[in-house]
Amino acid sequence: MLPRKQKVGTVAVIAHQRKSFGGGLDELRRLLADEGVGELLWYEVPKSKKAPKKARKALKEGADLILVWGGDGMVQRCVDAIAGSGVTVGILPAGTGNLFAQNLGIPEDLPKAVHVAFHGENRKLDLGKVNGEHFAVMAGVGFDAAMMEEADRGLKDRLGRAAYVWTGLRHVRGELVPMEVRIDGVTWFEGEASCLLLGNVGTITGGIEAFDDARPDDGWLEIGVTTANGPIQWARVLGRMSAGRSEDSPFVRMTRARKITARFGSPMTYELDGGAKGAVTKLKAKVVPGGVTIRVPESTGSEQL
Ligand SMILES: [Mg+2]
Repeated sequence: MLPRKQKVGTVAVIAHQRKSFGGGLDELRRLLADEGVGELLWYEVPKSKKAPKKARKALKEGADLILVWGGDGMVQRCVDAIAGSGVTVGILPAGTGNLFAQNLGIPEDLPKAVHVAFHGENRKLDLGKVNGEHFAVMAGVGFDAAMMEEADRGLKDRLGRAAYVWTGLRHVRGELVPMEVRIDGVTWFEGEASCLLLGNVGTITGGIEAFDDARPDDGWLEIGVTTANGPIQWARVLGRMSAGRSEDSPFVRMTRARKITARFGSPMTYELDGGAKGAVTKLKAKVVPGGVTIRVPESTGSEQL
């Protein structure tokens, strides 16, 4: 935990220009002035793809605190560059999807988020790494993160954490794909699957808890594979999920892992934190324990994560 009167040091802002939040970047500058920021490095990017270069620049310039203005995509890009540096990251959740911030209890209110960034506490959090790139929320194949947002309200309420799996699968364009998943070098799943999901945090989309008891500081990634296909199997999945935990479904397998290798029978587009990456036949994933330090709200004694 940080002392209450911490030295502000050099602050860098990496902002996605198209993301609006509170009174915008003008308000952010005022709030930074109020916090007594002396040395300020200011970077704006037109798209998140341009952010890693600025993040590396901020590190090179000696930033003590890097504030990321944007959503999960921006955070993913910045954190990928900052991981392992030990430099603290503050998140200003200006995106359309702010799942990482939500999972950490960072408020979607500009003055409050800035307050957390300057007066919260540092937490070393795990990241996942897939095919050489870090992610903070989730990664996988066989679903469409944007479409998963559509999970209908009634379904969410009835099925809770597992609904996203179902919703994602309902929208799967492809069908079952031969898949082999190895955990720590040992075959864990072999067969036809429609979706493979890796989670660093529990809440993956729209307030739905995808994984039970997931924590971004336990040194483990959550992993789930779903094999249901067609309306009859889905009816069975839904029946089981309504009655209990998603793990009880014969079409959903979940566990926890540190090192994962997945091979697919045909190329599949994979996603990192809501952004689509290339089509691949192999995914190599691992947990990066304590890979990034994030400024989060001060713990009140209750569980934040
Ligand atoms: Mg974990």
